[in-house]
Amino acid sequence: MGFFAFRGLRNDQALREKQNQQEIKLLSIDIFSELDMRVDLIKSELLSHPYQEHPYCLISWQKPDQENPQIIQGRMVYYPDGSSSTESSLPIPEQINEIQLIEFSKEDYPSAISLYQLLLNEQNNDPVKVQALLGLGRIYKKTGQFDEAITTYQTLIENHPEDMLFDNLPVKALSLLEQIALFKQTSNSVASKKASDELVSFLISPTLRIEQSSYEYLLDRWEALGGEASDDDRAKLLKAKNLTSYLHRLNEMITGLMRDQLSHHNLASDEYPGIFIQARDSSSSQFAWVLSMDSIVNHEFEQIFGKIDQEKQYSWEIIRDNANQSITDEESGTRLEVNFPSGYPTWKLLISKAEISGWQRLFKTSQGVLLLVFVFIFLLMIAGLVFMLYTLSQEMKLNKMKSQFISNVSHEFKTPLTSIRHMTEIMHLKRIDSEERKEEYLQTMLEQCDHLGHLIENILDFSKIEEDIKNYRFESHQLDEIMQDLIPVFKGRIGDEQYELNLEIKDVPPQMLLDKDAVQQVLFNLLDNAYKYSQNSKRIDIILSSQSSEHRAQEGQKEILVSVRDFGIGISEKDLGRIFERFYRGDRLRTEGIKGSGIGLTIVNRIVKAHGGRIEVKSQIDKGTTFTIYLPVNEEV
Ligand code: ADP
Repeated sequence: MGFFAFRGLRNDQALREKQNQQEIKLLSIDIFSELDMRVDLIKSELLSHPYQEHPYCLISWQKPDQENPQIIQGRMVYYPDGSSSTESSLPIPEQINEIQLIEFSKEDYPSAISLYQLLLNEQNNDPVKVQALLGLGRIYKKTGQFDEAITTYQTLIENHPEDMLFDNLPVKALSLLEQIALFKQTSNSVASKKASDELVSFLISPTLRIEQSSYEYLLDRWEALGGEASDDDRAKLLKAKNLTSYLHRLNEMITGLMRDQLSHHNLASDEYPGIFIQARDSSSSQFAWVLSMDSIVNHEFEQIFGKIDQEKQYSWEIIRDNANQSITDEESGTRLEVNFPSGYPTWKLLISKAEISGWQRLFKTSQGVLLLVFVFIFLLMIAGLVFMLYTLSQEMKLNKMKSQFISNVSHEFKTPLTSIRHMTEIMHLKRIDSEERKEEYLQTMLEQCDHLGHLIENILDFSKIEEDIKNYRFESHQLDEIMQDLIPVFKGRIGDEQYELNLEIKDVPPQMLLDKDAVQQVLFNLLDNAYKYSQNSKRIDIILSSQSSEHRAQEGQKEILVSVRDFGIGISEKDLGRIFERFYRGDRLRTEGIKGSGIGLTIVNRIVKAHGGRIEVKSQIDKGTTFTIYLPVNEEV
């Protein structure tokens, strides 16, 4: 069985390795097709939609000759709102310059104010209007006409929300900054807070397109004015700041590319997934994507694997360096090296099956099932063996006890028989001189016959009890009378006048249903033991009493107690638990020379139980033993 299981395991392992290789191959196919899909997506995003996470740029060049392409345009195509760049800048008109001269050099504010206002009424040109309004606001502020200044800036905010100053400063943001300062000066904190909030939402709005330096300038001024914003808004401001600096760097990259005419552009930094390049000549235009595979793989592979291998059974590694590739564990079937498909760099993907724990494997594979069956059968065999050994040893023990019993019984029989034979012989040879002596001999022979009779009775009873065929004849009796009758008989057996046999009747028991012979046998066996194991003491106490039962089964019911107490050798702790077993005899050293067959107490116990009672024993080595029988007073027995 073990061999088959083992062969099964080997075959299974080979099969498992093959399966693993196959699984990993299929997995790699899935992974690469997912990668293809994502690269296509990146390409189309480069072309059409804003790509929030990865900004990209567009470069167009003309190619009059193949060698030296001419870059005609380069710009960032990424805008947070997806629209293309439509910067509008405001050139400073002539008239404004003249008025500014009056304002700044001559400091003739009233003239400057009326000139600016004149311009406002006459002109329809936006840049001129913006400059005029800014001039007005500035003068009102300088001359302490705060309300007028605030209103002027409000006009700018409302009428020119999109306009830019000097190419890159939003007029609205500048006006709001001025308003915040003015409201602070007039202690209008509510209005100041409102203007500040409006500026913040303007700065974090996704449609804002300004240079990094302008953004930082506005943010610094707002901070200097004690700008306050919620944590959320602050985080957005920071993000927008980072974005502008990022776009700034991207812009620089484009400038660099344009300068170098694309000759040695470097996309190795994995910040950009790619650049979309458009080449134009007079008749046609061509597109190309320069993709940074490092960037794509770094950003996408984790997700691809997470999606395809949801149970995380595999681990992976990309080997970019093709030299010195060695696969260490190929034979185990848990690793596989796969080339990237054509169109990708000449990299390799190393996929390994993650180690699963021993227990998981046990329950997952058929190998485990076989092993479990094997272990189960093995345990079953061990259990069978243990059981067999146990019953065998029990049987042997019993056999030993039985032969011991036969030898014990033979010895017990032998003594009285020998003495009877001896006395009969003497009488037969008429060697007895006096009648008195003859009488004595006959008496002894009678007693020995009684003893033999008692022994035989015990053995017969034991075999009946063992076979469960003992019949009891329950009749109404006085237990005290049975005991009183037995004492002289037993005294006769002892044949020693000095021996004290004290019967104390504390309570006279009522008439009870008893098997008289059986009860006599119980008492006789107990007295016989007390006598046999009494050592040097010559006293046995028999006490008859009654009590309300404390025993669980018969609680509260009246019961009769018969105690037989001796002052002999006592019973060891070890023996106490076993003395009621059939054929069991106490410690051989202690019972040396005392005849017995080990069935006396077995009979006692069974008879007491047949009367619905129980027996208890208390003993102390060399102090004595007390057996107590508890018989329920129950006419129904
Ligand atoms: P046995 O024929 O050996 O007396 P029993 O079944 O009557 O067999 O008793 C079993 C064992 O219990 C005895 O061998 C003895 O070791 C112990 N035993 C019984 N009664 C007494 C007693 N009164 N004092 C000491 N030991 C006793």
